[in-house]
Amino acid sequence: MSTEQTFIAIKPDGVQRGLISPIISRFEQKGFKLVGIKLTQPSQSLLEEHYGDLKTKPFFPGLVKYMLSGPVLAMVWEGKNVVKTGRVLLGATNPADAVPGTIRGDYAIDVGRNVCHGSDSVDSAKKEIGLWFKKEEVVTYTPTIFKWIYE
Ligand code: UDP
Ligand code: MG
Repeated sequence: MSTEQTFIAIKPDGVQRGLISPIISRFEQKGFKLVGIKLTQPSQSLLEEHYGDLKTKPFFPGLVKYMLSGPVLAMVWEGKNVVKTGRVLLGATNPADAVPGTIRGDYAIDVGRNVCHGSDSVDSAKKEIGLWFKKEEVVTYTPTIFKWIYE
């Protein structure tokens, strides 16, 4: 059984717009396993570290301000290829390029209000999970339905 994990977050606009349940549903219905979840108000320092790779980008200050503007629903999802497939479920970074059926394709218009985050590699997922979650906040269990999801 794959224990690959990814960090998925519903950004402040997604929380404010009541998109928590539809976004979670897409990951649940796909067959991925939720192993960590919390509604949290991130600090500026956490966000600056989380988006450290983007520090030099012109949109960085606006991005941090946006992410600080309200609570974020932070999650850890587990499953086979969940990092890559999680990004497919989210859709392209710019909602204008995100195809219908993806979260950003269905629920967003502007890149600076794209409602969700997903790790872009297994390594960045590990880093992000460590940043947002304490070890004991990520659980281990085997859903009894897994024999109907994995061959
Ligand atoms: N972003 C933005 N303007 C841009 C590019 C990105 O505001 O031109 C924001 C957007 O919220 C995006 C986040 O910065 O989700 C992180 O950018 P990244 O390139 O890592 O995209 P992601 O991994 O979120 O798809
Ligand atoms: Mg990214």
